[in-house]
Amino acid sequence: MENTSKYYSPSDAVSVVPVGDYTDVGSAKTALIKLLSAINGLDVIKSGMRVVIKANLVSAMKPDEAATTHPVLLSALSEILTEMGAEVVIGDSPGGLYTSAFVNRVYNVTGMRETEKHGARLNDDFSQCEAEFPEGKALHSFKYTGYLDKADAIINFCKLKSHGMMGMSCAAKNMFGVVPGVTKPEYHFRFPKYEDFADMIVDLNEYFHPVLSICDAVVGMEGNGPTAGTPKKMGCLIASRSPHALDMVAAKILGFEREELPILSAAYLRGMIPERFEEITLYGSLDELLLSDFERVVERKSLEFSGNGKGVIKKLRGKILGAILKTKPALKKDMCVGCGVCANICPAKAIKIVKKKAIIDRKLCIRCFCCQEFCPKSAMKVHRTPIAKLFTSSKKDK
Ligand code: SF4
Ligand code: SF4
Repeated sequence: MENTSKYYSPSDAVSVVPVGDYTDVGSAKTALIKLLSAINGLDVIKSGMRVVIKANLVSAMKPDEAATTHPVLLSALSEILTEMGAEVVIGDSPGGLYTSAFVNRVYNVTGMRETEKHGARLNDDFSQCEAEFPEGKALHSFKYTGYLDKADAIINFCKLKSHGMMGMSCAAKNMFGVVPGVTKPEYHFRFPKYEDFADMIVDLNEYFHPVLSICDAVVGMEGNGPTAGTPKKMGCLIASRSPHALDMVAAKILGFEREELPILSAAYLRGMIPERFEEITLYGSLDELLLSDFERVVERKSLEFSGNGKGVIKKLRGKILGAILKTKPALKKDMCVGCGVCANICPAKAIKIVKKKAIIDRKLCIRCFCCQEFCPKSAMKVHRTPIAKLFTSSKKDK
């Protein structure tokens, strides 16, 4: 694959600092200042600016469940920005309704109220806008959350997690949260192929162009992510002006190759990251941070994705791998309470609730894994065939 490297530049350096836990706002501030000073990350922020921090508030989950950006870090960044004279707004569109009642519940459970004591205002504008984006590769028009229009600068503050469809959720994927909650599943239907979905995510990053991306990888999530996995101590913060360069470093920490991650591959093909990891300008050491035992959500998908490409043999190999190793959502019946969240969110209308249990119509399922992502009881899992497990047994699958 050829990379023309038209966009990646040394100013897209990445900074990493080790952080052991979320002790208190003061320590988090010190760590963030060290992290951001290395890349002059706050140079673009001026007094009087309205800065929107686009956090990851995917669901009403407590901070120690490791699905959302930790409130101690958001409080610390809010203090730093308000001390610089900026007005700070924290927002996101969780999965589900994009209404005041629904999002305020998410604020309460995720600990966001704490950030208000440190200068932040939680977004209370739940309007929606439409954008035309003819320059987009995959995405030419879309709906987005209106509060972003009032931002002079957007800071993308993500959480590092495994992800059912994209393998990893980090900086670039976090910008999918600009799409209003209930319309998100439509995008899976519009872009059922992983490559197209990934290009759509890259387009969103191009359109909103966050001035800075920061990753909460102090405690991330492994396993059945991005909401039903297990907290995993990762021990660091990562930052860059480029979400894709940041993702490249996060992928290195988790042990992914670029080819295994559709969004990173899409960014590479568009020249937004260099070919080799060594070409990234990195401040800080990864020596103590590389994980050898990170549990992926679904390793088969990675194999299937890496089977795509040009050439008859490669395409055939991709198809055969895809057929043999096909993953699908699978219900743990005893955990299902028949709440219907999955049926409501399923973009393909492939789920019905029968006798208080979810039933999936396999012919309709497009394997977007929204049901797995948003089931409040973690009853939907990503099922791998026995052969898929054999293929991936060298990596953690126990
Ligand atoms: S969202 Fe989960 S618990 Fe609710 S019906 Fe679907 S599978 Fe069952
Ligand atoms: S059943 Fe689940 S994976 Fe299949 S299309 Fe519906 S939400 Fe997506």
